[in-house]
Amino acid sequence: MKLAKEFVASLRWVNKRFDPFFDACYCKNCYPSELPSVIEAGNAEYVIPRGWVRIGLHVDPVTEEHYAIWDKWIVTFHGTTIVAAHSILTNRQFCLPGDTLIDGTVLGIRPGHIPNKKHIYTSPTIAYSSLPVYSPKTQFHSLRTKRTYEVQIVLQCRQKPRSFTIQGETVGAKTKRICQFASNEKVEYFTEIRASLVAYGLLVRFHKVSDDYDS
Ligand SMILES: [Zn+2]
Repeated sequence: MKLAKEFVASLRWVNKRFDPFFDACYCKNCYPSELPSVIEAGNAEYVIPRGWVRIGLHVDPVTEEHYAIWDKWIVTFHGTTIVAAHSILTNRQFCLPGDTLIDGTVLGIRPGHIPNKKHIYTSPTIAYSSLPVYSPKTQFHSLRTKRTYEVQIVLQCRQKPRSFTIQGETVGAKTKRICQFASNEKVEYFTEIRASLVAYGLLVRFHKVSDDYDS
């Protein structure tokens, strides 16, 4: 959690964007193997993001109450870049391809998805959302641990039921199973409705690259 907090602080996003109420750690110690890997929310199952740390995000209380998102909406994951996540949270709505992000770049359509179709992609499993095509790795150097990491981010969301289409993987995995819990045939959701998604957690995962004294 400390490393995730340090990384998130390094992004220099405004403090009010975060809500520690939704902080959670899914490392081996904090979320041991005997705890369930698949959980139900809003009448749908999702896979616990083991190995990730969740930094809680501020959720608009009106949205929360109006849609009863904690009771009725399902849990999904949205793999994305740091700049796209920052744009989503700053604009308070999900981005569709063609949108200009806060750094001035335009959100593109990933190869493998239908050209000209503007969709937001989510998944009930982070094993899919964290594939590098969705959630690219960036480098982070921790002043605390004096180590360099590759870091990935994924947004944990509540998503409105029946507002999206379910399809199979589009990353060319074919018979190679991506997640041991969710089948490849139902691993990708897509929607055009920005307001059907609310992010409440910024999930972060680190891979150690080097120690200072390595280089
Ligand atoms: Zn932990």
